[in-house]
Order: sequence, then structure tokens, then C-alpha cells
Amino acid sequence: MASTSTASFPQQNFDYFLILDFEATCQDGEKIKPCQEIIEFPVILLDGQTFEEVARFHRYVQPTVCPKLTPFCTDLTGISQEMVDNQPEILEVLQEFDDWFNERNLSDKRFIFVTCGDWDLQTQLRHEGKYKKFEVPKYFSEWINIKESFKKHRGYKGYGMMTLLKEMKLQHSGRHHSGIDDTINIAAITKALAKEGFVFEPTGKAPEKKGKKNVR
Ligand code: AMP
Ligand code: MG
Ligand code: MG
Repeated sequence: MASTSTASFPQQNFDYFLILDFEATCQDGEKIKPCQEIIEFPVILLDGQTFEEVARFHRYVQPTVCPKLTPFCTDLTGISQEMVDNQPEILEVLQEFDDWFNERNLSDKRFIFVTCGDWDLQTQLRHEGKYKKFEVPKYFSEWINIKESFKKHRGYKGYGMMTLLKEMKLQHSGRHHSGIDDTINIAAITKALAKEGFVFEPTGKAPEKKGKKNVR
């Protein structure tokens, strides 16, 4: 009996899943103006056959529009002022992520980002890009919202990461609203759904850029 296999997963449509969960500047009860900024950028790369972690990208990011974190933000995320001061700004982190992504030749593979909600890739990154005038790389244009996958699999809604963990009978690990801990928990949910036989499909797509429509 030499088998070391502990779980079998259905064949997926992706070679790699990139679990991502941004944290951003915030305050209690109202929106940060003029622009919320990403302060933590964690991505966990999961193998699409074994759902094991194969690599990790993790940076804290210095906000530049509102460089001072609110006490509310620090309480929520566990990210202190010292953790973002002297860190690279978002453009530099995006470049570092691009290098990390390309070193692994991920664009030649079947890959997909996984988030909990659509906020990270549909809202935050795009709003910040518009405000700071940077292009959002094309690989962020499609993703899986794990809440949608859960709903499709179980037939009822899961309202947030903590609910999904409970529904999947998984222990929460680390601190809720720490980006890296949230990615670890979202990775566990992704793996558990696959273990129950779920085959993932993309659920979210960035809107087409204006002015790029085909003219007939
Ligand atoms: P999460 O991934 O759920 O930890 O949240 C991502 C970001 O959404 C946080 O870094 C905050 O900027 C914002 N956020 C989450 N929950 C709250 C909240 N209760 N009040 C204000 N902002 C929040
Ligand atoms: Mg999140
Ligand atoms: Mg989070």
C-alpha cells in the first residue's frame, strides 16, 4: 500500500488558481475620498490538480493619496502605519507582481484569479487605476468570485468568507481582514469546494474598454 494520495479532485479547467484578497484604506461608516488605496497585496498560487500552494506573492503597499491610516483601518486589518511607511507604492508593487507572474510563465498556462466578492478586481483595482492613471494588466480581467461558486455548488447563498468557512466545515485561520490570512482561508474554501466535486468556471469579467467596440 504505497499510495500517498489523500484526496481526489475532479479535472479542472485551470492549471493554476491565484487566490487574491486586497486590503485598502478605510474609515468607519463612510467612503475614503477621493480614492481608496490598496495597502496589502497578497496572492497565493494553488496547483489546479492538487490544490496545494506552490508559490506566494505578498507585499504591503504605501498609500500616497491619504498616506495616514485611520485607527479604524488599523483595527480592522491589523495593518499599522509602520507596516506601510517606506513600502513600495502601488505601481511598483504591480510591476513586482508582473515579474513574479511572468517568471512562472503563467500567461502560457490556464490560470484564473479567485476572490471573495467582486470588489477586489471589479472595483478597487480599477478605481485606483483610473484615479492614479495606471493601466490594469489584462490578466486581472477575469476571475472567480468564490461566493458565486459556492452558490452554484450548494444551491443557496453564502454571504461572506466567515459564512463560507462555516458552511464548508472549515476552521478559520489567522486574523479576519488581514489580506494574507484571508487568502489562506479563501484557498481552503476553494480546495474544499473542489474536494466536494465542484468544477470551477469564471464568474466575473472586467467591462470592455470604451471605444474598443467593433464597428460594422
Ligand atoms: P476584506 O477583504 O473583507 O478584509 O475587506 C477588504 C477591504 O474592504 C478592507 O481593507 C477595507 O478597506 C474594506 N472593509 C471591509 N470591511 C469593512 C468595514 N466593516 N468598514 C469599512 N471598510 C471595510
Ligand atoms: Mg476581501
Ligand atoms: Mg481581506
